[in-house]
Amino acid sequence: MEFARALLRWQRMYGRNDLPWQGTRDPYPVWLSEIMLQQTRVATVLSYYSRFLDRFPDVATLAGSPVESVLQAWAGLGYYARARLAHACAKAVVTEYGGTFPRSAAELAQLPGIGRSTAAAIAAFCFDERAAILDANVRRVLARRYAVEGDPAQRAVMDSLWTVAASLLPGSRDMPRYTQAIMDLGAGICTARKPRCDVCPVQDGCRAYRMGRVEDFPARRKASPRPVRSAHFLVALRGRHVLVEQRAADGIWGGLLGLPEHPEVRTLRRQARSLGALAPPMPLALRRHAFTHFTLAFTPHLVRLDPALHRAPPDGSLRWLALGEIEGAALPAPVLALLREVRDDAADAGSGLTGVR
Ligand code: SF4
Repeated sequence: MEFARALLRWQRMYGRNDLPWQGTRDPYPVWLSEIMLQQTRVATVLSYYSRFLDRFPDVATLAGSPVESVLQAWAGLGYYARARLAHACAKAVVTEYGGTFPRSAAELAQLPGIGRSTAAAIAAFCFDERAAILDANVRRVLARRYAVEGDPAQRAVMDSLWTVAASLLPGSRDMPRYTQAIMDLGAGICTARKPRCDVCPVQDGCRAYRMGRVEDFPARRKASPRPVRSAHFLVALRGRHVLVEQRAADGIWGGLLGLPEHPEVRTLRRQARSLGALAPPMPLALRRHAFTHFTLAFTPHLVRLDPALHRAPPDGSLRWLALGEIEGAALPAPVLALLREVRDDAADAGSGLTGVR
C-alpha cells in the first residue's frame, strides 16, 4: 500500500487536476478522452476534445451521426481507426445498453475500441472500480520500480506486469486519483528519456534506481528499420478549388478526404490529361510522413487547369473542394499542411507575388 499512498499524496500536490475531462463521473467524456489519448499527447488532445464534445455532446448524438462527420471532427488527430471504432462503440452503447455505458471494466472491454487498460481507466474514474491500467507509461513505471525483466511485447512479461499492477491498487474510494497519479507519474516523472528520479515520489523502493539500471527497463525490442512506401499525389487546381477524393474505408487515412493517389507518375499524368490539363503536372518537393509501421514518401504534382473548362470530376469519389474550406474538411494532417501551402501560394500568385514552393 505504500506505493499507492505515496502516489496519492504526490498527485494531490503535483499531479494534473484541471484537465477538461476531470471532475466528471460521466463515462461519455471520460471514454472520449481516453480514446483520444491513446497514442496522442495531452497537449494535442486538448484542442480537439472540446470541439468534438460541442459537436457530439452525448453518446446518442455520436451514434446517430454519419461516420464521415466523426472522421471530419477527428481530422488531424491521426490514427483514424480510433474515430471509426469510437463511432462503432457509441452505436453499441446505444443498441446494446440503451445509451448508458456499462459500469464494469469487464463489460466495457467488450465494446469496440476499448481495450483492457482503457476499460479499467473508465471504470476506475467513473465507478471507483479496483481495476488496474497498464498503458505504455504505466508499463514503464512498473517495469522499472519492480525490475521486471524482458520485453513487454512478450505475453509472459505482460502477464507479470498486470499481476504487479493489480497488486498495488488502493481501496475503491481512491481509485480515480490513484489512476490519474500513475498516469501522471509515467507522463511527467518516470519518462522514457531522462526520468526525474530525484523528485520521484516512489523512488524509495525503486529497484531499477537502486541498481543504477533505470535505462534498462523496460527491455526494448531491437528497432528494425521502418519500410518506406512511395506514392504520387495529384494536386489539381481549378481556380480556387482543388480536386480531392474520398479515400476507401480500409487502408491509411481510411474514410478521409485525400488527394488522388497514384503508385506511378504515368497514371497520375493520365488522370491530369483526363481533367483537361494541357501540360504535365509539375513535381514538388518530396515529403515524408511516418506511420506506425512504415514511412510514406510522397511527391505532390501540381497542375493548374483552365477554370473555364468546368470539367466535372470523372468519378463519384472525386470532387472539387474550395481552398477556403480545407480547414474544416476531413483531411489528414500532412495533406492539410500541403494544401495550406498551395492555398497561400495561390493567394500570393493572385497578387503577383510567387509560385508554389
Ligand atoms: S525512481 Fe526513477 S525509475 Fe524509479 S519509478 Fe521513480 S522515476 Fe521511475
